[in-house]
Amino acid sequence: MISVEEALEKVLNYVEVLEPERKPILDCLGQVLAEDVYSTIDIPPLDNSAMDGYALRARDTLGASESSPRYLVVVGEVAAGSMPAQEVRPGTAIRIMTGAPLPGGADAVVRFEDTDEVNRKLSGGDLSHIGILCQVEKGADVRGRGEDIARGDLILKKGKVLRPQEIGVLASLGLSTALVIRRPVVAILATGDELIGVDQPLAPGKIHDSNNYTIAAEVSRYGGIPKILGIGRDSVQSLTKKIYEGLDADMLTTSGGVSKGDYDIVKNVLAEHGEVGFWTVCMKPGKPLAFGVIRKTRGGKVKKVPHLGLPGNPVSSMVTFEQFARPAILKMMGKKILAKPVIRAIIDDDIVDTDERRLFARVSVTRRGGQYYASVTGPQGSGILTSMAKANGLAIIPEGGKGVKAGDMVEVQMLDWGEEQGDVEKLPVVSIVGKSQSGKTVLMEQLIAEFKRRGYKVAAIKHGRGGMKIDHPGKDSWRFAQAGSDAVLISSPDKLAFIKSVDHDLGIEEILPTVGPEFDLVLVEGFKKSKIPKIEVHRKGLGHDLSCSPEELSAIVTDESFDTDIPQLPWGDTVTVADFIEKNFVLKSPSNAC
Ligand code: AMP
Ligand code: MG
Repeated sequence: MISVEEALEKVLNYVEVLEPERKPILDCLGQVLAEDVYSTIDIPPLDNSAMDGYALRARDTLGASESSPRYLVVVGEVAAGSMPAQEVRPGTAIRIMTGAPLPGGADAVVRFEDTDEVNRKLSGGDLSHIGILCQVEKGADVRGRGEDIARGDLILKKGKVLRPQEIGVLASLGLSTALVIRRPVVAILATGDELIGVDQPLAPGKIHDSNNYTIAAEVSRYGGIPKILGIGRDSVQSLTKKIYEGLDADMLTTSGGVSKGDYDIVKNVLAEHGEVGFWTVCMKPGKPLAFGVIRKTRGGKVKKVPHLGLPGNPVSSMVTFEQFARPAILKMMGKKILAKPVIRAIIDDDIVDTDERRLFARVSVTRRGGQYYASVTGPQGSGILTSMAKANGLAIIPEGGKGVKAGDMVEVQMLDWGEEQGDVEKLPVVSIVGKSQSGKTVLMEQLIAEFKRRGYKVAAIKHGRGGMKIDHPGKDSWRFAQAGSDAVLISSPDKLAFIKSVDHDLGIEEILPTVGPEFDLVLVEGFKKSKIPKIEVHRKGLGHDLSCSPEELSAIVTDESFDTDIPQLPWGDTVTVADFIEKNFVLKSPSNAC
């Protein structure tokens, strides 16, 4: 049995990024740009008006106000799409519409509402003049030529995933087509003598094929082109024939016929006509899973088509598709981010995991009070497809454990979130651990000051073993708590305190979600048993051993040297420690700007 990660690596090693194609921009949604796009034009092409109003010279509005209007002669009008026929000379203005080119001589626009135009119209007055009711600066309500895009600029970089806004940008550049990595064609085959099509009436012993539909919809959702091959019967002959119909595709998925039953013959076909990659993955649902390549000879050349043999059970086939076929499709499309976003949520139910495999539990995730909660969507049989229909996430229960208890923190893969979203940004967290008297608190203070100096927003967490003294008897907040309120918040113009009753001594994982998302770094003192990254402060005067085992540590801040590979930082040199934390935990990879 191989791990989910090993299996994914093998699958991804077999698939390649496909070649680019040029096609109409409207067909490119979600595809990856295969060329850098430069602009050959300025956008906007000319200075133009951002408002409906009057184009004029800012100098002519000097001192204008409602009580003291400046009167200008209206010498013309210009609408969007036409060019001004006149120039604005001192003492004149041209009526102008949003988007219309700014007439020569004008350097600002005054909006209609800042003129006496409406009053003039109501009183049937003379529109050959206009009263300006406010003073404006040069450039007011003028959109400058090239303000959005300048000729020659790199506008979209190769590798960019095209969203509606990028498609709009391409259109604004006057480009009707784009060069993008082509979409993979994925052939889809259901297998099983018990299967009948959706349009056929049920007969004894038969069930409707649903996998072809789920998988085809998944392929489309992730940008591929599904090619449904239909239903293969449980015979080597039928399967071989069907599979060969799918070999023009970039990838083939079958469902069913991969477990140990007598009729499970996909692996036999695969063994005879290709290479078998692997058979069992340490996951539930989805243990029986086949991956390999089918060889195809065309014009003397051997082509290898990756084949993913998904399990037949509807939930298993979808979960394994999500874990393996989805990233393969994304890789073929040239995408760089292949993982589904993972969030941390509190699980509402106990989940028992008795057989040591990684469990993907179907859950419905909701957000309440800044915290995600995940509830199991009813019975979890791998044939119960409605458990998927009710779910928006897969809770990942690690292998080797015994499951989780209600209230535990779990990781959840968010099925309906786009990969581009990435993992919900995890706050960079580092804990300073060490023996008593090693100088943890002093280092914390120095690090906080150093990171503040570097411009970061820092949160610090301390474990108050002996209770805390912020809940002063007699204060209103104390009285609310005494009356039974489970949480009390006190807010003032410059501070917010949140005091919540808890029924056990919280682990740092449970505490972190209450730290708001606005911080750049969370520095923690203590919690040495937790799994967050830890740096131990060590003084040789306190003995030559460490309080954590070295493999749990990211670094040691020490006044003596250790025989270990872990980075050792000099005791008393806060700047070096801060550099280490900044480099390893805080600085993110440069954003993919365009
Ligand atoms: P298998 O892996 O072929 O042993 O199939 C496992 C279970 O999944 C059996 O109960 C099948 O009836 C069911 N199953 C297989 N293929 C499909 C399908 N295309 N649609 C719905 N159920 C299926
Ligand atoms: Mg079957």
